[in-house]
Amino acid sequence: MKKIFLCSICNINSGTCNEDCKFCSQSVKYKADIERYKQKPMDQILDEARRLEALGALGFCLVTAQKGLDDKTLDFVCNVASTLKREVPRLRLIACNGTASVEQLRELQRAGVAAYNHNLETSREFYPQICTTHPWDERYETCENVNAVGLKLISGGIFGMGETHEDRISMLQSLKELNPVSVPLNFYHHNPALPLNPSPLSVEESLELITLARTILDKAERIMIAGGREITFKERQHEIFEAGANSIVIGDYLTTAGRDAHADLMMLKSLGFEIATSPEDK
Ligand code: SF4
Repeated sequence: MKKIFLCSICNINSGTCNEDCKFCSQSVKYKADIERYKQKPMDQILDEARRLEALGALGFCLVTAQKGLDDKTLDFVCNVASTLKREVPRLRLIACNGTASVEQLRELQRAGVAAYNHNLETSREFYPQICTTHPWDERYETCENVNAVGLKLISGGIFGMGETHEDRISMLQSLKELNPVSVPLNFYHHNPALPLNPSPLSVEESLELITLARTILDKAERIMIAGGREITFKERQHEIFEAGANSIVIGDYLTTAGRDAHADLMMLKSLGFEIATSPEDK
């Protein structure tokens, strides 16, 4: 029986980034109406971790909104990780903190982080149209650093930002070179505060993109459907699994509410899927 991996996201620092990624409501440049704070209190992080673990989440991703790690943020993430490791040991900790050096990644690893998420977001060719404050190559290098230290790499991107089909193939091929264990696929939807306003992808197109990712990234253990899942697939959620996905984000996203977690669990049950309880589950 196919097992589905449930991943969850915790925004431990929110909306304070100075970069200009045009798809991101956490950039201070676009004044999106979101909650902004420097450090989420530890008791709140623990509550969220326990609640998501009880729902069946295996992955718990500690996200900070910034271009990369500085000493203060690294200390904060390491503290949060070691506390969670002690208090909610079954959760598999993922860090997602932007650009990171080999030394910084080793420190996260020592604190109990098992995997690092850094998305390529789009193709190298299209990237200058969605971000001008840092280069795509820097993203790629961070992914290489993750592999170099032996953390599990989680890397994917966003579809529907106005890129061409060639851009999508190019991104997926770059991801293949990096050999990520899990590939988060996000589907962009217009936010009036953000400068991007492409036509949204159809459900059919989006399902085909999942299959394309599954085919090109044939060695990846997981194709994970992340941001935009409910808006893109609506009542056709179940088709993402037929298309090739075997992982979803459960609960809320970084700045937007997700689908009701209980509705997701009921859907998985009705489709006859089991929830993965170990990273080795197939
Ligand atoms: S660097 Fe990350 S947090 Fe900052 S604007 Fe870009 S995507 Fe958003």
